Amino acid sequence: MSNFYLDNPALKHHLHHPLMRRIAELKERNYTDAENYDYAPVDFEDALDSYEKVMEVAGDVIGEVVAPNAEEVDHVGPSVVNNRVVYAPGTAENLKATTQAGLMGLSMPRRYEGLNLPMVAFIMASDMAARADAGFCNLWALQDCAETIYEFGDEAQKQKYIPRVCAGATMSMDLTEPDAGSDLQAVMLRATYDEANDCWRLNGVKRFITNGDSDIHLVLARSEEGTKDGRGLSMFIYDKNDGGVNVRRIENKMGIKGSPTCELTYKNVKAELCGSRKLGLIKYVMSLMNGARLGIMAQATGLSEAAYREAIAYAKDRKQFGKAIIEFPAVYEMIANIKAKLDGSRAILYETARFVDVYKILEDIEKERKLDENEKAELKKYKKLADAFTPLGKAMNTEYANQNTYDTIQIHGGSGFMKDYPCERYYRDARITNIYEGTTQLQVVAAIRHVLTGTYLSHWKEVYQQEKLDAKLHGLQNRVAHLVEIYEKLVPFVAETRNQPLIDFQARRLVEAAGNITLSYLLLSDANRDYEQFGSSAEVYVTLAEVEIAKIQKYITEFNPDNLKFYRQTEEQTEG
Ligand SMILES: Cc1cc2nc3c(=O)[nH]c(=O)nc-3n(C[C@H](O)[C@H](O)[C@H](O)COP(=O)(O)OP(=O)(O)OC[C@H]3O[C@@H](n4cnc5c(N)ncnc54)[C@H](O)[C@@H]3O)c2cc1C
Repeated sequence: MSNFYLDNPALKHHLHHPLMRRIAELKERNYTDAENYDYAPVDFEDALDSYEKVMEVAGDVIGEVVAPNAEEVDHVGPSVVNNRVVYAPGTAENLKATTQAGLMGLSMPRRYEGLNLPMVAFIMASDMAARADAGFCNLWALQDCAETIYEFGDEAQKQKYIPRVCAGATMSMDLTEPDAGSDLQAVMLRATYDEANDCWRLNGVKRFITNGDSDIHLVLARSEEGTKDGRGLSMFIYDKNDGGVNVRRIENKMGIKGSPTCELTYKNVKAELCGSRKLGLIKYVMSLMNGARLGIMAQATGLSEAAYREAIAYAKDRKQFGKAIIEFPAVYEMIANIKAKLDGSRAILYETARFVDVYKILEDIEKERKLDENEKAELKKYKKLADAFTPLGKAMNTEYANQNTYDTIQIHGGSGFMKDYPCERYYRDARITNIYEGTTQLQVVAAIRHVLTGTYLSHWKEVYQQEKLDAKLHGLQNRVAHLVEIYEKLVPFVAETRNQPLIDFQARRLVEAAGNITLSYLLLSDANRDYEQFGSSAEVYVTLAEVEIAKIQKYITEFNPDNLKFYRQTEEQTEG
């Protein structure tokens, strides 16, 4: 019997973070929902208890149904029959089990038949699902698209679609096209208004759409004829019951094989406008993608968890030179690094989810009543932090998932290269995490703004450095403070050159340094709350961070800007 919540004490640790009291109070509107729903919590302890219960149910279904199906789903995969996706049998069983367990519409309000859980809990279920099967995690977590309908749709749309999602309808986000990937401003799928039938019509092609044969689609389309940029794009809802979208093919992929990645054709498809015209990309997709990026951070963390468990189990079991390989420093060093990166990933994942929770719930409350000055300031603060931490965490966690799954194969030696162990699946599955929902390079483009404007630095100084830590952590705390001093010199060293190509060139290193310091502080805080669980990871991670930042410092300070020309591969050079 395995329960992916109960067997992982790190999850409970994060569910019990001090900020959860404020999040639950906001989410439950000071526990007034209890007046209308007899199952709504009456106070914080009751709320936390209900979050735990749902996590236990999720942990059970994921551990008992999703995880055992994962290998077969990876081998069988989905197929296309008559333009419709047919899931692998295990995937269909997983969807049925999670729906029956009430795990759809987790974060939606009770009036739309959701469970009204905070983002932290939804993300925790995604973290567990990815540990079991990263491909299934995608299908299940796309329920988060309902958040966009809740935020930007009208009341009729909310009443029509959200209860369906809570009852198990699946969703997809149809953004990417052959010529519009990272650059979504280039989307060309055409939306025209059909006066006779009083609805919008969609025509065109989308590609790489996860779960593209879902029940309810959010579609980004060009509603303003003659426009070429993001201001001509709007968001639409397509209901599969209306028909018109066909699956031309599904991609043959390297990983997440259970998750169908579809090419879709739209022929005169009836669709509803969601929100206002022209705000599709600028406002709605930005919000949708921020939520999805948090989901991919969770997916990456779940994969790192799976890799860590597999690495340690194998290293204890496998014997060479008369002893278990875990006794060799070369092996236990790899395992300790995996664990430190895993714990660091989880720390920034839940920190970001908490920031998102506070600001999103306050935004929601603002639709019901005026916020007071303190609440307005709180909303502004957490929105900015969520904006800064989402790309940072997406970049760090997804790169770490790749490193961790790679190292787990290494620990398995030749066996890791075979299909006999799940680590090769983890490795293949992890590879997409730093590509979709914005590549790491695009996360750097978003995060560098917060490096240059000092968002991370001021948060470290005003919050993390102010935390009173146990005396045994003071040494580590001083070492991290020294890293901050180095960072404080490196940022102006680059920024003050006012040489934009050079700033863009060094951006990844500066963002990585910010990530290393942030994760160090978060692990210090976790170790302060539970030294036994996180003390070793804090020690190991800070050492890794010191090594990384020393390399970054050397690279940045010794780099000759004139040498940029050697990196630019012009046509002439490649032809030559
Ligand atoms: C398995 C899978 C599932 C997917 N699911 C969905 C889905 O459900 N819905 C959806 O809409 N899309 C989905 N996508 C699409 C995905 O989001 C895009 O593939 C991704 O955003 C990258 O776009 P691209 O593939 O066109 O690469 P490109 O944009 O062509 O990028 C190629 C390279 O150029 C770099 N690059 C591009 N622009 C810049 C820049 N400004 N600065 C620095 N570097 C840059 C990139 O980092 C990358 O290294 C999925 C893709 C895959 C593979």
